[in-house]
Amino acid sequence: MSNVTEYFGCNVFNEETMKSLLPKNVYKALLNTQRMGTSLDADVADVIAASMKDWAVSKGATHYTHWFHPLTGYSAEKHDSFISPTNDGKVIMEFSGKELIKGEPDASSFPSGGLRATFEARGYTAWDPTSPAFIKDDTLYIPTAFCSYTGEILDKKTPLLRSMEVLSEQAVRILKLFGSQATRVITTVGPEQEYFLVDKKLYDQRKDLIFTGRTLFGAKAPRGQELDDHYYGNIKDRVHNYMKDLDEELWKLGIYAKTEHNEVAPAQHELAPIFTTSNVAADQNALTMEIMKKLALKHGLVCLLHEKPFAGVNGSGKHNNWSMNTNLGENLLDPGDSPKDNIQFLTFLIAIIKAVDEYADLLRLSVASASNDHRLGANEAPPAIISIFLGSEIQQILDALETGRMIKTGDSQEFVIGVEALPNFPKDNTDRNRTSPFAFTGNKFEFRSLGSADTISCTNTIINTIVANSLREFADKLEGSSNFKKDLNDLLMETLKKHKRVIFNGNGYDASWVEEAARRGLPNYISTVDAMPHYTDEKNVTLFESFRVYSRTELQARTDALLETYSRVINIEALTMLDMAKKQILPAGIRYSAALAKAVNEKMSAGIDASLEKKLASRVSELCNAIDTAVSDLDSLVIAACDKKGILECARFYRDKVFASMQSLRAVADELEMAVPEDLWPFPTYGDLMFRV
Ligand code: ADP
Ligand code: MG
Repeated sequence: MSNVTEYFGCNVFNEETMKSLLPKNVYKALLNTQRMGTSLDADVADVIAASMKDWAVSKGATHYTHWFHPLTGYSAEKHDSFISPTNDGKVIMEFSGKELIKGEPDASSFPSGGLRATFEARGYTAWDPTSPAFIKDDTLYIPTAFCSYTGEILDKKTPLLRSMEVLSEQAVRILKLFGSQATRVITTVGPEQEYFLVDKKLYDQRKDLIFTGRTLFGAKAPRGQELDDHYYGNIKDRVHNYMKDLDEELWKLGIYAKTEHNEVAPAQHELAPIFTTSNVAADQNALTMEIMKKLALKHGLVCLLHEKPFAGVNGSGKHNNWSMNTNLGENLLDPGDSPKDNIQFLTFLIAIIKAVDEYADLLRLSVASASNDHRLGANEAPPAIISIFLGSEIQQILDALETGRMIKTGDSQEFVIGVEALPNFPKDNTDRNRTSPFAFTGNKFEFRSLGSADTISCTNTIINTIVANSLREFADKLEGSSNFKKDLNDLLMETLKKHKRVIFNGNGYDASWVEEAARRGLPNYISTVDAMPHYTDEKNVTLFESFRVYSRTELQARTDALLETYSRVINIEALTMLDMAKKQILPAGIRYSAALAKAVNEKMSAGIDASLEKKLASRVSELCNAIDTAVSDLDSLVIAACDKKGILECARFYRDKVFASMQSLRAVADELEMAVPEDLWPFPTYGDLMFRV
């Protein structure tokens, strides 16, 4: 394929395709649904379905699937063919509006946090017409939301769509106060995706990578990332070919893959698409991850999306660049040129500062998982403390505002910026603070705490909802005000005073920040187990219920499902370690000490000094004994973990006891690796995995 402009989006039922294939009135109705959320008539849906099917069949598709995002964190799909029997024993290809709009997958085996018992397993998927359908693997994929028959949401998409709606409503209220004609605000996201590539043949020899996605053992290689030579470094041919293929596949699916480069750790890379509407970005990111993994196999590689595949070098994250755009094309986080624009920008900015301070716990838990716990606070990703970085220029402006030097509240119609204070609003914020979780980067916020394997839905649901909440409070106070400028000024000053503690422009990796943050009263939830229970804190239930994003029951269900997953992940890791230790590591150690013992005997009977072999043999025996003890400890803890009844209690046990015991086992096993000859070690080493790509 050569001409990108020609094949870009060729596998997507996008606006251009719809415009050319659908009757005018149907196309218009669909656009209205997409842009205004109006519902679609059944006959219109029938026309769209038939046209979608014809288009898909012309491109070789035989099946369709409702594509959804259950709480597993992976996407799910059930394929049905288009065939329908005819009287003469043949088939025709059919697809109705009903089939397009609603699907009924048997939902019993998806995690629901207890919301839906298996005997009432009915769930349904509903078409999300705002995210385009596409063709992959001879199948027409229809993006959908997934709910139970009783109306509880069972997926990650529905709350995201709801949060986008509520943010739009509240932001439009604020915009009206500034005289804007905008009727809708759309949140946008550009997720930067990090990943590792390892050789498939090496991968296949490591049970830990196969079962858990990360290495559970492995002594450090002599070389890691200390030379800083991989970041933006020359891309190896094999990796380059992979990236080239990846771009092509993504472009065909209408995904704006834009930037690719080597990341900090050896064998680590990044792909960033151009930003788009949040729900489309979430769908496209899920699709990107899937294609990354699939395509790697074609190149004899395996793509690791785990947050921490290797100890001792950086893990992978996903930076969530977020902003808000009006339907008139104005980016609300773009400071703008006139004083009026600037004040509007500051209003949104301060609403965000308030939101992040009030709901730091939610932002923290939106990125919580057993695997992401390895990164946060480990000086390779932002700390678990949520704070905002604004940069010195914006900070100066806020300081001026807080001390009353900002908005003149005289009689003139125009906003006037206080004379002494103001530097120009920064146009290009190149101030790169990479240690902050939530950084303003010129015309958007970059939330940097997300894990590479996670979907971006949960985080964006939370960002949208908490910002909507600030905007709602602002609008409630300002609507009907008889002196808008003064009231706005007072409100902004007061809000800033109250919430500025969450602003931190310093080094987030510095140990002193932990103490400083504690003094400021900012929460620091180190692990998933500390963070998750706050989902159902009263203030958070009130927030979500007031916007109908989640109900109390749904929040509890999500907390339970996530904590259960946490425990299960650690359980699988512990079992994998036990398996590898018993079946591979100990036997290697024993084989080596036996060989040494034999050498000792042979040398001694030949009258040769065997003190080195003796020393080595006893060292290896000691290590094997230590491994055996650690294995017994871990074994009994895994059994004991099953007795823990409550979900939270169980998760705590996994973190405090099982995980700690895993660390001890790893430490002695890694020591043994350094003591055993290369040819006796049962699986590829860190050096092999990271440097032989
Ligand atoms: P860096 O690595 O320097 O942070 P990248 O260029 O790798 O920058 O990624 C920046 C991301 O931010 C891209 O995905 C880009 O499309 C996205 N982005 C830019 N403007 C916006 C916006 N208004 N809303 C959301 N995302 C945006
Ligand atoms: Mg970035």
